[in-house]
Amino acid sequence: MHEIGTLYKVVQTAEEYAAQNNATEVLSITLDVGELSGMLPYFFESYYPIVIENHPMLRNSRLILKTTPGIGHCNACGENYNVAQNEGICPHCGSYDKRILTGRSLFIKDICIAMEEAS
Ligand SMILES: [Zn+2]
Repeated sequence: MHEIGTLYKVVQTAEEYAAQNNATEVLSITLDVGELSGMLPYFFESYYPIVIENHPMLRNSRLILKTTPGIGHCNACGENYNVAQNEGICPHCGSYDKRILTGRSLFIKDICIAMEEAS
C-alpha cells in the first residue's frame, strides 16, 4: 500500500507550503497520478479524509485527482501507444520492446491556499 504513505507526504508538503506563504488554510490539492505509477487514484480518494483528520490547515480541503496516460514509444516500429490499454504490447507491430514516455510519475500539480485578509 504505497498510496497512504504517499498521501501523508503530499499532505505534509501542502502544509509546509501553506505555512511558508502565511496561508490560513489549504483549499485544495491537485495530484497528478500517472497511469503507470502503480498508484490507484481510488485509494487516494478513500484515504484522503482520514489522512487530513489531524491536519487542521487541511480540514476543509479537497483532493483533485488528474491522471496522465501511460504512453510508450515502440522501439521496433517507432509508434507511440497507450501502454496500459494495450497491456504493454505495441498494437501496430506486436513488440514488447518500448521506452516509456509519460505516466510513470506522481506529482503535486497545484496547491490552492487561502490567504489572510490584509488589515
Ligand atoms: Zn511497434
